[in-house]
Amino acid sequence: MRETSNYIGGSFGTGTGPEQTVINPATGETIWTYRADEERSVAAALAAARDAFPGWSQATPADRSAALYALFGELEKVAEELAQAESAQTGKPIRLAREFDVPGTIDNVNFFAGAARTLPGHASAEYSGDHTSSIRRQAIGVVGSISPWNYPLQMAAWKILPAIAAGNTIVLKPAENTPLTSLMLAEACERAGFPAGVVNIVNGPGPLTGEAIVRSPLISMASFTGSTVVGRHVAGLAAPNGTRLHLELGGKAPFVVFDDADLDAAIQGAVAASLINTGQDCTAATRAYVHRSRYDDFVAGVAELMGKVRLGDPSDEDTDQGPLVSFKQRDKVAGMVERAITAGARAVTGGKAPGGELARGAYFEPTLVVDAEQKSEIVQEEVFGPVLAALPFDSDEEALELANDTPFGLAASAWTTNVYRAQEATRRIDAGTVWINDHIPIISEMPHGGMKASGYGKDMSTYSFEEYTQVKHVITEITGEPVKEWHRTIYRQR
Ligand code: NAD
Repeated sequence: MRETSNYIGGSFGTGTGPEQTVINPATGETIWTYRADEERSVAAALAAARDAFPGWSQATPADRSAALYALFGELEKVAEELAQAESAQTGKPIRLAREFDVPGTIDNVNFFAGAARTLPGHASAEYSGDHTSSIRRQAIGVVGSISPWNYPLQMAAWKILPAIAAGNTIVLKPAENTPLTSLMLAEACERAGFPAGVVNIVNGPGPLTGEAIVRSPLISMASFTGSTVVGRHVAGLAAPNGTRLHLELGGKAPFVVFDDADLDAAIQGAVAASLINTGQDCTAATRAYVHRSRYDDFVAGVAELMGKVRLGDPSDEDTDQGPLVSFKQRDKVAGMVERAITAGARAVTGGKAPGGELARGAYFEPTLVVDAEQKSEIVQEEVFGPVLAALPFDSDEEALELANDTPFGLAASAWTTNVYRAQEATRRIDAGTVWINDHIPIISEMPHGGMKASGYGKDMSTYSFEEYTQVKHVITEITGEPVKEWHRTIYRQR
C-alpha cells in the first residue's frame, strides 16, 4: 500500500488535512486512504515550482526533450501497473485502460518529447524598414493545474506535458477520488531524473487543495479540466490576480445521422461512442439526431447492440462496461434518466441499475432514451453516464440547428456518404472537434478543446503551446542614426 500522497520539490510526502478515501466503485471497497494537502503543502509545492522555473525554462529544448524521452521509457516499464491502478480507482474496464488510457498517455509523452524541440515562430524581418523585428516565445512561469476523474492519467499528462515541454513548471491537483496514477506519473518523472520542482503533485478536495492553488498569486496560469460549473468558479477565483486561464469543460456531443449514412456504421459508432468509459467522456456521443427515414432502424439497432454489452468486473478482460466512477455519479445518472421518463421519454433499453452480483458496485445499464424533448434536461445537460438520447429530424437544416442547440461545443460527429453534406456539417457545427463517419478517436498531433460553454484553449498538439507560452516582440533599431524620422512628431528636428 502506498504511503505517500504528494510530490513536492522532488520528494514524496503526505498531507496533513482531512482523510480522503479512494474507493473501487466495482465493489464499494476502500482501496487507499490519504491525508489531503492543505494551504501549507500547496504553498511548498508552489515555492518548489517557482524555484525550479529559472533553471527549467532556460534549459535547452534538447535537454527538456531528453527528460521527456526518459519519462517515456519509464512509463513503458510500468504500463501494466498503471492500467491496473487506473482500472481499480475508476472502475473502467482493464481492456480500455490497457488499450486506450495508458498507450494514449505514453504516446503523448513521446509526442511532446519531440515537440519540445520545435516551438514554432515567425521569421525575423524588417517590417518598419529601420528595425529588425523578431519573436521570442517564452515560458510563462508556474502553472497551477486541476484535473478530473474520468481519465485521471491521461488528463494529468495532458496538463503536465505541454506545460513542461514549453519550459514551465507545474503543480497539479488530480481529482480527490482518483489520485493514484498521477502519483505513479510523478514517480516515473523522479526515476527519469527530472530536476526537483519541475513537476509537483498535491492531492485533496477541490474547495480545499484546488482553491489554494488557483487563488495563489504565485501561479502565472491556471489550467483546469472538469465541469463547466466548477471551471467558471475557478475562473472567478483566478480573476483578482489576473491569472491566465485555460479551461477544458463539459460536453454534450451531437451525433448526426443523415439519410444517406451507412446505418450499420452509425449504429456501431453510436454504441461505442456513447458507452466509452461508461459514458464518462467529455466527447461521448450523447444526442443522436437521426433522419426520420432511418430513425426506427437506428433505434432498433442501437438497442440491440447495447443489450449485448457485457457489464462486469472491470479487472476481467471480457468485461465491456464497468461501473461509474462512484455511487454519487451513478445516482446522478439514475436521477436524470428517471426525470426524463417522468417527463414523457422512454428507455428502449436499460434505464436502471442492474441487480444481482452487480448491485454492490456503481453500475448502470447501457441506456437508449427516445421521445425526449429537445429542451429537456436529458438532451440539454451533461449526463456523464452510459446514456444516449435519440431524436428524429426531417431536414438537414433542422439537424444542424439541433446539433448546435445546447450551451456546449466540445465535440460532434456527422454520418453521411455525401461529401457536400459532410463539408456543410463541419462548417456549421460549433464544436472543437467534428468527426465525419466516426466519433471518439483523438491523436497526439491534433488539438483537443472546446467552444462555447465547453471552454477555451487546446490540449495536445503544438497548438497547446499557444496556451503555455507567451509571445515577446523584440525590436532592434538597425540604422545607427541618433535622430530618427519619427522624432519629428515629438520635437523640432535639430
Ligand atoms: P469537477 O468539475 O467536479 O472536478 C474537476 C476537478 O476540479 C477535480 O480535481 C476537483 O477536485 C476540482 N474542483 C472541484 N471543486 C473545486 C473548487 N471549488 N476549486 C478548485 N477545484 C475544484 O469535474 P469531474 O466531475 O471530476 O469531471 C467530469 C467533468 O470534467 C465533466 O464535466 C467532463 O465533461 C469534464 N471533462 C472535460 C474534458 C475536456 O477536455 N473538455 C476532459 C475530461 C473531463
